[in-house]
Amino acid sequence: MWKPLICASLVILGLSTVLQAEPPKKTSSSANSKPAAASPAQPAQTPATSALPTPLPADLFQGRAREAYAAAAEIPDVLAGLSCYCGCKKSYGHRHLLDCFTDDHAATCGHCINEALDAHTLFMTGTPPDEIRKFIDEKYGE
Ligand SMILES: [Zn+2]
Repeated sequence: MWKPLICASLVILGLSTVLQAEPPKKTSSSANSKPAAASPAQPAQTPATSALPTPLPADLFQGRAREAYAAAAEIPDVLAGLSCYCGCKKSYGHRHLLDCFTDDHAATCGHCINEALDAHTLFMTGTPPDEIRKFIDEKYGE
């Protein structure tokens, strides 16, 4: 009748001495050993100049919109380096001013038209692209 109790207490005693003898294990080591490279590396591709989006044909539009689309077709690499400040980045996901001219968004957006025409004028007078960007940022940026 007493034997099982004694056995149990002996086991507990034995266990506690074993536990005391062992140094406390660091739990942080297992937390830090996350499986490395669980997700494949993201292909962070920056669009090359050859892969620029094509603006819509200027003759689809009238007036200043037409001029602006013509400018976009003429200097796409310049427009691709410019931010558009009309708010289309949020609503349309446009990355730069050139994106505004790949759909008909810019035709109804005076902001896009003005930016493109300004950029084109500056480009035609020999202004380097980084100067054009600075001008656009200062004139249209917040
Ligand atoms: Zn825009």
